[in-house]
Amino acid sequence: MIGVSIEGAAQVLRPPADGMPHLRGDELEAQRLDPCDLALRDGAIAALDADGGAELRVDASGCAVIPGFVDCHTHLPFAGWRAAEYEQKLRGVPYEEISRSGGGIAASARALREHADEEVLAQADALAAEMLASGTTTFECKSGYGLSRDGEMRALVLARELEVRVPQSTVSTALLAHAVPEGHSADGWMGVVQEMMPEVIAAGSVTALDIFVESIAFSNEHLELMGELARAAGLALRCHVEQFSSHGSVPVALAAGARSVDHLSMLPASDIPALAAARCAAVLLPVAEFLGDEHRAPGRALVEAGALVVLATDANPGTAPVVSMPVAIGLGARLYGLSAREAVGAATINGAWVLGLEHDRGSIEVGKRADLLLLDGPIDAIAYRLGRSPVGAAFVGGRPVYVRPDFEHRMERR
Ligand SMILES: [Zn+2]
Repeated sequence: MIGVSIEGAAQVLRPPADGMPHLRGDELEAQRLDPCDLALRDGAIAALDADGGAELRVDASGCAVIPGFVDCHTHLPFAGWRAAEYEQKLRGVPYEEISRSGGGIAASARALREHADEEVLAQADALAAEMLASGTTTFECKSGYGLSRDGEMRALVLARELEVRVPQSTVSTALLAHAVPEGHSADGWMGVVQEMMPEVIAAGSVTALDIFVESIAFSNEHLELMGELARAAGLALRCHVEQFSSHGSVPVALAAGARSVDHLSMLPASDIPALAAARCAAVLLPVAEFLGDEHRAPGRALVEAGALVVLATDANPGTAPVVSMPVAIGLGARLYGLSAREAVGAATINGAWVLGLEHDRGSIEVGKRADLLLLDGPIDAIAYRLGRSPVGAAFVGGRPVYVRPDFEHRMERR
């Protein structure tokens, strides 16, 4: 493993103190952004100082150095796209109606069935490359388009195979209750989920269970049951809640010990204090809100209440066909009123906490894994220049895995 010396950075984003597992409220704005050099060795951040003996010397003058983005909510790997549905949505057809007429999750489930493993993985590979060029160094994969016992297990195997093929590291979530499969009732399908748990655990790659609570999907009672299954299996519980309509799911999720509650576009203000006080992240998905013309999660109020606020893409072929964390950050900053420090903290250390990886990534601290980005300008340009990736180079485990052509001249190999 080579040593790397990153020299002359104008801004290096550092947490307010070392060893913080996540950043809440004012802690986000208290992140430091000073000029600094960095030395990387053996895959980790070795020192907040240059290393004259390093094999790779990086000229970071004028650059910001930040932790790699942790996209803790994506639906990779999936098959195909659903562009025609987006056209329908633009004309005002509601998602529930698209879903009830055979579109939505069921359409992606059909596509997954009809594509060979290699085709699904090739599409995911290409998306992972896009994600890397946009600064994502760790991302979550979910099942959920299998919609059968075999289909869900196949999706989990594909997710594990993807991890081997891409430069990033990935984490797998079993979204076993995404849509009610044809021929089942929601209750009946939860029985199948319960039966398949030994197989899911034996797969060895899954770290969390997930469920979609909505009138067209599953209920709060099913959320409670998923929480019991997660607890029994020693897995984290995550949930898609309060997206299209409010079902009062957040108190139920908190009681069930959820690691995260995701979406929250319809979160009642009365649920904010309990969520802010809980050891549970509020994962906000502004791309889905913007493209779906959904309601807006109370992002600003959650930050001010001290909640553990996270930004992610929700990358999926239906509601959020976007894999770019800079776009998620840009929309999150605009829709919720977040500062650059708040939005980037929500997209790095807080995302790492959701995935249980905060001990070794998500912030720039000596000893942590060297997953870093060199940005071609200050961090406030991420949200300001919406739609553009500011990533000049990306390091994963101390290795430069992405270098934009105009950044090649900054890399001096010795
Ligand atoms: Zn999702």
